[in-house]
Amino acid sequence: MLRINNLQAQIEDGTQILKGVNLQINPGEVHVIMGPNGAGKSTLSSVIAGKEDYEVTAGEIIFEGQDIVEDAPEDRAHKGIFLSFQYPVEIPGVTVTNFMKAALNETRKANGLADMPAKEMLALIREKSEQLGIKKDFLSRSLNEGFSGGEKKRNEIFQMMMLNPKLAILDETDSGLDIDALRVVADGVNAFRNSGNAVLIITHYQRLLNYIEPDFVHVLANGQIIKTGDKNLALELEAKGYDWLLN
Ligand code: ADP
Ligand code: MG
Ligand code: MG
Repeated sequence: MLRINNLQAQIEDGTQILKGVNLQINPGEVHVIMGPNGAGKSTLSSVIAGKEDYEVTAGEIIFEGQDIVEDAPEDRAHKGIFLSFQYPVEIPGVTVTNFMKAALNETRKANGLADMPAKEMLALIREKSEQLGIKKDFLSRSLNEGFSGGEKKRNEIFQMMMLNPKLAILDETDSGLDIDALRVVADGVNAFRNSGNAVLIITHYQRLLNYIEPDFVHVLANGQIIKTGDKNLALELEAKGYDWLLN
């Protein structure tokens, strides 16, 4: 599904952040990237999603057989790449539900599909919100307005479930995630994952892996993936930190 070869990327001032990342993600897999602060984890997720703050200077990002490096962020989204925090804006007067309907229909349109019939949309919203324990009054609130950390997280996972991307990238940058928010993420990922899609989770939280069983755990340090293992690697990292890998 996703193959990243020798990916190098820099920020505006010319500082190289990604220094040759290699990563392959197949359908049905859940990958976790861990690593020291400032390693380039968020940069990697931004570069995959196509955020314009970064310039790719070498390498390729192949998604379903096509190099997407030149694609605009919205084109990547329409092709089925979802990045959490894609829609962090507050939109007074636009409800969670209405925003979601518009985003879903926009994606369908970009893929040559008609709007989802209203009845089907309602059923889908009901199904996904029930899976996540989202209450009706939440769905009619203004998007992101006054949302707590946990509510933002719930909305983000709800968006993932509704848009049903091929590849979901969750960058858990927020250092303030409490155990309930971690559960929201974990329950969402477990409900979402299937043999046809893939999930890339970037996290500091070894605890998250008590609830999600990843197929691969990677360590990103200094702009490169320096080690790959299974869930036991995460346990080892929790016990030993990163220093033993950095020499
Ligand atoms: P991580 O997510 O692993 O903590 P980041 O990808 O956020 O690391 O950052 C890697 C390095 O790149 C850091 O030194 C950070 O300050 C720098 N960096 C990332 N994005 C930008 C940006 N848009 N402008 C300036 N510096 C950035
Ligand atoms: Mg960071
Ligand atoms: Mg980060």
